[in-house]
Amino acid sequence: GESLIQTGIPAYRWPCLLWFCGTSSRDTMNALAATSRNFRQAAKLLGLDSKLEKSLLIPFREIKVECTIPRDDGTMASFVGFRVQHDNARGPMKGGIRYHHEVDPDEVNALAQLMTWKTAVANIPYGGAKGGIGCSPGELSISELERLTRVFTQKLHDCIGIHTDVPAPDMGTNSQTMAWILDEYSKFHGYSPAVVTGKPVDLGGSLGRDAATGRGVLFAAQALLAEYGKSISDQRFVIQGFGNVGSWTAQLISEAGGKVIAVSDVTGAVKNSNGLNIHKLLKHSKESRGVKGFSGGDALDSNLLLMEDCDVLIPAALGGVINRENANEIRAKFIIEAANHPTDPEADEILSKKGVLILPDIFANSGGVTVSYFEWVQNIQGFMWGEEKVNCELKTYMTRGFKDVKEMCRTHNCDLRMGAFTLGVNRVARATVLRGWEA
Ligand code: GLU
Repeated sequence: GESLIQTGIPAYRWPCLLWFCGTSSRDTMNALAATSRNFRQAAKLLGLDSKLEKSLLIPFREIKVECTIPRDDGTMASFVGFRVQHDNARGPMKGGIRYHHEVDPDEVNALAQLMTWKTAVANIPYGGAKGGIGCSPGELSISELERLTRVFTQKLHDCIGIHTDVPAPDMGTNSQTMAWILDEYSKFHGYSPAVVTGKPVDLGGSLGRDAATGRGVLFAAQALLAEYGKSISDQRFVIQGFGNVGSWTAQLISEAGGKVIAVSDVTGAVKNSNGLNIHKLLKHSKESRGVKGFSGGDALDSNLLLMEDCDVLIPAALGGVINRENANEIRAKFIIEAANHPTDPEADEILSKKGVLILPDIFANSGGVTVSYFEWVQNIQGFMWGEEKVNCELKTYMTRGFKDVKEMCRTHNCDLRMGAFTLGVNRVARATVLRGWEA
């Protein structure tokens, strides 16, 4: 049954710690440099005008605000919040808000840019944005998180809106965070559920949104494997990260008959060559706040997880985890990027020489923002869809997206990352020119 919210105690688990993957080497190329390099390569393949190229790269608007709150002990604490609105040629800007101690302006910028290409690849009528607050959510109480979220919303409310910029959850935030943003925003502008997505279902959230990124990863994996005459049920998977994205991905892959042989989170990693029982692992990780100590497998060094022998590797945690330090050691045949920018361009080169196929983030994890779009549409229509309709539409979008990416690969004779980038960048460029870029 549904749990009730009691006085001040949310009925939600707050699993922010579980999003992080542990201690993997992240001494990588700056996220913004890496994303911009991929963009430039796509612009070159498309033969984009150099002035248009430059204009597409520069963010529409970058917001940086101070957020000061009283801690529970009465002392004051200050945090810095960001929202980068990258591009709105195709529609309102869209993207998550991240609470993490490593949030920095360059990375938020890179993630905002990735959202622009991602929404275009998914072919949903949005631009791209991303936000974040540099904080350690695991060290803040629920009421401190609420105050921080409300102060951030007070600073941001004039820059977001149903037809301007629509935030959503990301690492360290969840449906409760969205509920607070909605409530605070509504004090200034009137009740407007469509101003955020990834809300609790009780406040107009979409059925299926919670699982959507993981379900999209499953559909993306099915489409990719089918190209090579393979299916989920004959593959062995390794998943880095057991937060919202990683845990749903693991669950749906194992339900589809795939063997998930190793999983990690910030607490550690577990391995079972016969396949982990994901239902038991979920139960364990809820009870012990992490995968560490799971009795249905052997403990594994988190740093070695990416190098495990498997067929499909799914990074579902932080960016930059696959880099020149470890790319040579990777033994998977396929990498499906459930995280944002897990692979840097140097690793891309090494892996491509090894013949490893990479399904890029801006397609592979687009299921989340796609169901965010369905949520926004339902809010605007004032009509709620059934979960089956949500999942079925998501499958249609992911399957068509994969075909579109493959077609760009053929047109430009390029890999899947450049196929997705050329697809996204081309759609944004066309919209920009149609709206009168030269006028
Ligand atoms: N934070 C998710 C992403 O990186 C979802 C964004 C959204 O739903 O707007 O794609």
